[in-house]
Amino acid sequence: MSMPMGYVRCHGCDFEGLMQRHPITLEYVLPTGAVVQGYREVAWCYSCEDVTDAEAAFDAASIQNEIDSFKRRKVGFFGRIFGGGKAEDVELKRLTERLQLAQLRKSAPRCLNCGEPTVVPLAFDESGTSNVVHTCGRRLFVVPEDPDAPRFMFRPEVVRLDSEGRKI
Ligand SMILES: [Zn+2]
Ligand SMILES: [Zn+2]
Repeated sequence: MSMPMGYVRCHGCDFEGLMQRHPITLEYVLPTGAVVQGYREVAWCYSCEDVTDAEAAFDAASIQNEIDSFKRRKVGFFGRIFGGGKAEDVELKRLTERLQLAQLRKSAPRCLNCGEPTVVPLAFDESGTSNVVHTCGRRLFVVPEDPDAPRFMFRPEVVRLDSEGRKI
């Protein structure tokens, strides 16, 4: 897979961080042994004081909503198309395991670099200014990507975590 890269700089100092969008899949292993897929998020880590990859948070309420609407759909669409077959069971199991993980989880999302729950998702407004205030007191901003910049090939990486987001 070919992924673009971007740079994060600071309005107040010469800090420069690299946003590497290499493909990472997170796999959470539940105490039951079930494996739940999670998502990586580009974040700012206050421990690393750098741009980092972090866990995307699980939201139990929104997963529960998905399950509820899935169950309603199941009666209609899936019921008609698959006649109550295996596909819907697999999907419902996947959602239920995600919900289990969200309910088990006590700590905040962690930095995949240092493992500390000291991350905030890195977001930018229309002008490219970040929500994050750097240690120097000024805000971070993103340097627009040059569409002609060289692109690098990365091998997809799988990171296995326990339900609290610690690498295993
Ligand atoms: Zn700074
Ligand atoms: Zn960190």
